Amino acid sequence: MRTNETERETTVTTAVFGSEEMQKSAPTDRIPQHSTTAEIAYRMVKDETYAQTQPRLNLATFVTTYMDEYATKLMNEAIAINYIDETEYPRVAVMCAKCINIIANLWNTPEKNKWKTGALGIGSSEACMLGGVAAWQRWRERRTAQGKPCDKPNFVISSAYQVVWEKFAQLWQIEMRTVPLTKEKLTLCPEDVIARCDENTICVVPIQGVTWTGLNDDVEAIDKALDEYNKKTGYDIPIHVDAASGGFILPFLEPEKKWDFRLKWVLSISTSGHKYGLVYPGLGWVIWKDKKYMPGAMSFSVNYLGAEISQVGLNFSRPAAQILGQYYQFIRLGFEGYKAIQQSSMEVAKYLHKQIGSMHPFKNYSDRVNNPLFIWQMKEEYAQNSKWTLYDLQDILKQSGWMVPAYTMPANIQETVVMRIVVRQGFSRDMADQLLTDIAGAITQLEKLEYPTTSRIAMDKKEKVKSSVFTHTGKNK
Ligand SMILES: *Cc1c(COP(=O)(O)O)cnc(C)c1O
Repeated sequence: MRTNETERETTVTTAVFGSEEMQKSAPTDRIPQHSTTAEIAYRMVKDETYAQTQPRLNLATFVTTYMDEYATKLMNEAIAINYIDETEYPRVAVMCAKCINIIANLWNTPEKNKWKTGALGIGSSEACMLGGVAAWQRWRERRTAQGKPCDKPNFVISSAYQVVWEKFAQLWQIEMRTVPLTKEKLTLCPEDVIARCDENTICVVPIQGVTWTGLNDDVEAIDKALDEYNKKTGYDIPIHVDAASGGFILPFLEPEKKWDFRLKWVLSISTSGHKYGLVYPGLGWVIWKDKKYMPGAMSFSVNYLGAEISQVGLNFSRPAAQILGQYYQFIRLGFEGYKAIQQSSMEVAKYLHKQIGSMHPFKNYSDRVNNPLFIWQMKEEYAQNSKWTLYDLQDILKQSGWMVPAYTMPANIQETVVMRIVVRQGFSRDMADQLLTDIAGAITQLEKLEYPTTSRIAMDKKEKVKSSVFTHTGKNK
C-alpha cells in the first residue's frame, strides 16, 4: 500500500516512461521501499550503462568481447549452474578436467596421468595466486625438512608485472624482487634475474605477453641461467610462467618455441581463458607439470554437497558457464580454428604497428610484435615541440568511441608515456583502417592547436600526468 496519495502506483500496465520511477533518480544508498515492474527495472539498469564504451571498440582490454551465438546460448543456458556443486553437476566437473587436459597438452605436459594436474580460476589473477602459493609451499616443505627458516620468502619478476603479483606479494607477505626494464632491456634479463636469487627465492616469474608492452620474456634463457645457478648452489628455484595472454598464442603461432613444460624448471603455468582463450570474462587456468608439484595442502575437502569432493581454489562458488564456453570453443574451433583467429589478430596488430610506427609523431616501443598487442610513444624530437600528448589523443579517440589507453611505463622508465592497442578476435582489418583514419584525423586536429593542452603543460612541468581512467597499477587489465 502506498502511503502518499500523490504517488502513482506502478502496475503491469504502466508505461515504462509514464512511471513514477522514471521521474526519480535511481537508488544510490538504500533499497527502494516498493517493488516495480521487471520492465522498468530492466530499463533503469540498462540505461545507466548506455554511455559506456562499446566493448569491441575497447582496445584497452585483453578480455574477450566477442563469442558466436551458439557459445553465447550455451553460456546463457548454464547461467544458473554453480561450478562447486560437483555432485549435482558432475558432468561439468569432468568437462573442466577435460579442459585442463587439453591446455596441459597444448603446453606439452610430460604428465602421464589420465587427468592432468591443474585448477580453474576466475581469471589469471586467481591462477597466478595458486601457482605462486604452490611454489611457496613447496619451498617451505623443503626448507622445513632441512631445518631452515621459512620467514623470508621472495620471488623475482620484471617491473612490468601485472598488478596481481603485487597483490600476491602483499597478501601473502612474500618479497617481490623486481628487475627494472631499461631502454635497452625491454624484457626480463636472465643475468638480472640470477643476481636477485638466493636460498629464499620461491620462484621466478617470466611473463608471456607482458601486459605493459606485449613482449615475451625469454623463458628458455631464464631456464638455462637458473639451471646453471641451481647446479652451482644446490637450490631448486623453479619457474612459474605467467602466460595470461601468451598461453593461448604461442601453442598456435609459435609451436616450436620452448617456453612451456618442455623446459626443465617450468613447474607451473597460468593463463586467462577469457583473454586469448576466447571465452567471455570469468575464466583462468593454472597447470602444474605433475601432480607432485601441487602441494596436497592446497586441496581442501568438503563433504556437505552430497559427496566428499576436493577443491583447489581461492573462491568456492563460481560460475560454470565459462567452462562450457571454453570446451565449446575447443570443439568448435579446433587447433586450426584457434590458429586462424590468433593469426588474424596478429596480422591486424602487425598492420597497425607498422602504420602507426610510420606516422610522423610516433615510434614503436619495439620492432617486435610477439602477441597481438603493442605500444608506441611520441618521438622525442616531436614531443619537444608538440602542444599535445598521447593523453590528448586518447581523449579525442574516445569521442569516436575508441578506448585506446595512454599510460606511463613502470619504474625506471616511468617518464615514458605510451599508448597501447590490444587486438582481439572481433577486430578486423576494416576496423583497423577506421581507427587509423581517426588517429590521423586527431593528429591533424591536435597540430592546429595554438596553445599547449593541460596535459602538455603538466608534462612540461614534469608533473606526473595520470590518465583519469588508467592509473599506474590499475590499468593493466
Ligand atoms: C591480465 C593479466 C593478468 C591478470 O589476469 P586476469 O585474468 O585479468 O585476472 C595477470 N598477468 C598478466 C601478464 C596479465 O596480462
